[in-house]
Amino acid sequence: MAFEMVVHNGTIVTADSNFNIIEDGYIGVNNGRIEAIASKTDTQPLPQADETIDATGGIIIPGLINTHTHLPMTLFRGLADDLPLNVWLEKHIFPAEAAHVNPNTVRCGTLLACVEMLLSGTTTCCDGYFYEDIVAETVKETGMRAVLAQGVIDFPAPGVPDPSQNVQTAAAYAEKWSSASPLITPSIFCHSPYTCSEKTLQKAKTVANEKDLLFQVHLAETKFEYDQIISEQGLTPVQHLDKIGILDERTLLVHCVWLSDDDIDIIAGRKAKVSHAPESNTKLSSGIAPVHKMIEAEIPVGLGTDGCASNNNMDLFLEMDMAAKLHKVNTLDPTVMDARTVFKTVTIEAAKALGREGDIGSLEIGKQADLVILDADQPHLVPMYNPISHIVYAAKGSDVRDVVVSGRRLVRHRQPVSIDMDAVLAQTNSISRSIKSSSR
Ligand SMILES: [Zn+2]
Repeated sequence: MAFEMVVHNGTIVTADSNFNIIEDGYIGVNNGRIEAIASKTDTQPLPQADETIDATGGIIIPGLINTHTHLPMTLFRGLADDLPLNVWLEKHIFPAEAAHVNPNTVRCGTLLACVEMLLSGTTTCCDGYFYEDIVAETVKETGMRAVLAQGVIDFPAPGVPDPSQNVQTAAAYAEKWSSASPLITPSIFCHSPYTCSEKTLQKAKTVANEKDLLFQVHLAETKFEYDQIISEQGLTPVQHLDKIGILDERTLLVHCVWLSDDDIDIIAGRKAKVSHAPESNTKLSSGIAPVHKMIEAEIPVGLGTDGCASNNNMDLFLEMDMAAKLHKVNTLDPTVMDARTVFKTVTIEAAKALGREGDIGSLEIGKQADLVILDADQPHLVPMYNPISHIVYAAKGSDVRDVVVSGRRLVRHRQPVSIDMDAVLAQTNSISRSIKSSSR
């Protein structure tokens, strides 16, 4: 059997249903999909391939999935830190967005995000922002896979000066991208129940349902939001969204920090999905989401980095480390969020959160050839008794050596192939100078 690509000589962590780990294995790729995955034997010659990647000394894992991003916000990395969410958002982020978010900066910020994600092993992201058409054009050029949502909010936003057009803009965007690229899946993102009216939420959800799109919304992020929705609606944020018909298996709820046990039952009962962003939640001091309870209730939970202004990076290895340790210390139980459970939140469970588990999230025959090779031949990854332990507790994004998306190599020996990184860094620095001079 001949392949377009063969990856061999590494330890393959499949993240399949049996969590198989294949020592000294190989993966054969044709037409962007995995056609073979097996252990090599000394008697069997390596199959022929147009491109062969030797992963000696490496760990081969599924491409990581970031379930919550705002890609162009890389431009605001480190602009305002150490503030409560409402002050940070209203006094710093919203004004900076109003002044500086335009097609040119969105393109640059998106490229910066993509190169950062690819170099740290992320092959799929789930995004929500404004000018998402530009985001989609840009991500498509990079060869990454993405679920990309046009943002909806009930006040003037970048590219949508008239909020009465917010859902219509999102619908037109989704229509344009419905079959424009196999790598780009359109979606709709309502900012939150405190910035979107009941009517807006319902209109946007109706459009998402009609077009079979993932509907995303920030939910129950802060105590302030939780108390506000209770005082206005007499219901928790989850109960409020449930009452107005937003919760179903095509809805991704982002954050879910402030939940009652009853709220968890509602989310599970509706088969809605959750994105957990522990670094953002800790940095903004929003609280600690009851993630282990959600996972116990069989709610698919994926990790997300959130925007770069509240993290301040897009490295899912750091996010995994945080997720594993935060919930242990919070519950005083070291068995909570074990390494395998955490690894699943950036692979197969993240894929489920996006409704894409048939296609991505594990290394299995028939799935997309989205894979990452970690260089484990380094002091902080030796010895290796358990590769999953290293992935969660010891590895960093900078250990990523090679990245393949849909059978195409996008990172080669730590260098991006599809993005001119030097040009992106130079343009980012140039934009940041004007952001800095106007924010003084
Ligand atoms: Zn967010």
